[in-house]
Amino acid sequence: MSNYKCNHFAIHELVPESVFEARGEKAWELLDDRMLITLDRLRDRYGKMTINNWYWGGSREFSGLRVFGCPYFSPYSQHTFGRAADPVFAETTAEQVRQDFLNNPDDECFEYINSIELGVSWFHFDTRNCTRIKTYTP
Ligand SMILES: [Zn+2]
Repeated sequence: MSNYKCNHFAIHELVPESVFEARGEKAWELLDDRMLITLDRLRDRYGKMTINNWYWGGSREFSGLRVFGCPYFSPYSQHTFGRAADPVFAETTAEQVRQDFLNNPDDECFEYINSIELGVSWFHFDTRNCTRIKTYTP
């Protein structure tokens, strides 16, 4: 799908403040469409969820795209390529979502998730090019 923009999220929820200031709405072009589609599907299934909330004065700024100079920046992280996000859910836990995914990875909601991180309080997923399903621990 080309030119996909989330139904449920504004661009400032997906990039750091520095990127939002530099690119504005053009920052959508920095993010993988499969990752964006997955965020909307997760929101539709699991209800309210938070990625970045810096725009409203919250502390989360690096849970989507990360760029050089950011805290947590790592050159080969999937976050660097716009293919990863670390949502937290208001109405369920990351662990529940992980179990749902691992129990039913072919559900349409999870179609584009190829890798997840285990044992963390957020739901790291990414759309990396790998043999599905790759799991890892921090
Ligand atoms: Zn992550």
